[in-house]
Amino acid sequence: MIVGLPKEIKNNENRVALTPGGVTELVKNGHTVYVQATAGNGSGFSDEEYKSAGATILPTIEEVYAIAEMIVKVKEPIESEYKLIKPNQLVFTYFHFASHEPLTKAMVASNAVCLAYETVEKKDRSLPLLVPMSEVAGRMAIQKGANYLEKPLGGRGILLGGVAGVAPAKVLVLGGGIVGTEAAKMAAGLGADVTIMDISLPRLRYLSDILPANVKTVMSNSYNIAQAIKSSNLIVGAVLIPGAKAPHLITRAMLKDMQPGTVLVDVAVDQGGCIETCKPTTHENPTFVIDGVVHYCVANMPGAVPYTSTLALTNATLPYVLKLANQGWLTACQKDEELRKGLNVINGNIVYKPVADAFNMAY
Ligand code: NAD
Repeated sequence: MIVGLPKEIKNNENRVALTPGGVTELVKNGHTVYVQATAGNGSGFSDEEYKSAGATILPTIEEVYAIAEMIVKVKEPIESEYKLIKPNQLVFTYFHFASHEPLTKAMVASNAVCLAYETVEKKDRSLPLLVPMSEVAGRMAIQKGANYLEKPLGGRGILLGGVAGVAPAKVLVLGGGIVGTEAAKMAAGLGADVTIMDISLPRLRYLSDILPANVKTVMSNSYNIAQAIKSSNLIVGAVLIPGAKAPHLITRAMLKDMQPGTVLVDVAVDQGGCIETCKPTTHENPTFVIDGVVHYCVANMPGAVPYTSTLALTNATLPYVLKLANQGWLTACQKDEELRKGLNVINGNIVYKPVADAFNMAY
């Protein structure tokens, strides 16, 4: 198959959908890979590395779209790319159709085949192509939180791990899924006094088994949250209710119960946030302060670490990319239920019900 790797053109997107290592695998399997010049630069991969891996470099995005049977990307196509997508072309990327009507209509009109990373689903209902970015965001939440706890950045001036004779900082993690677990592990590793809350007792049992002794598991409810925020120095929001807006577990009124210089990192901000006062911020201007409480609410946290994010994402996507290239999308999706769940649009038809429902379109 002819595989095309365009450069991401969404603002501030430095990831790339295949590493030179991924290209090597595709070439080894007999496929031809075209890479747009400088596509990997933002993640630290040069054109030379792609060439050595067996790819051909094309100067423009138009040439990549024109020649490829399968386009592998990171972010959804943006408007200037709509017209480049051809009938029957397979596009494998994050689409997030349900929140973007013009994109959905453009992809229906393109007659292409759109396989969305975010709806590829395993039997246990986990989403293997979303997990790596949650892992990155969870780990990063603590790195960022520790940073903003420093006095010059508005924090209380407390070191996460303390030192001999001085107690460590208290970290509260709301939600014990992928983001929350990674955040708790990182905070614990730095020596903090960590509490993680979830509404699922089986999940809390599991976390209690696998996390170190400086992480306490506590049932998530309004009473326990109200108590815990009073002494927490860093609070990470990591709840998710699939398909719904995040619940506001911390309200505006609760900020007055926190110590000045407390830092809130609401990773769930992309689903509306689980802290009422959070609104999306950017890497350029990541924080704001309300009632002396520092809010960090960047909606695309993994974007700041494109090297790690690209490797983490491609570790997860490459097996699927290889299957699609080796078997063609139709056979691959017939044989593999996980991949089949990723199909959102096929040749002008929406085949993923929640997307059709979102815009009252035919399914
Ligand atoms: P997940 O499904 O693995 O975990 C969510 C957890 O929240 C589950 O364990 C669930 O039981 C728990 N939960 C639900 N309601 C709760 C409540 N009231 N109190 C406590 N826990 C509750 O999801 P995830 O992969 O960890 O993602 C968490 C959020 O982070 C999502 O909104 C996701 O979109 C977001 N995210 C953001 C970024 C970013 O850059 N900001 C990056 C990756 C993920």
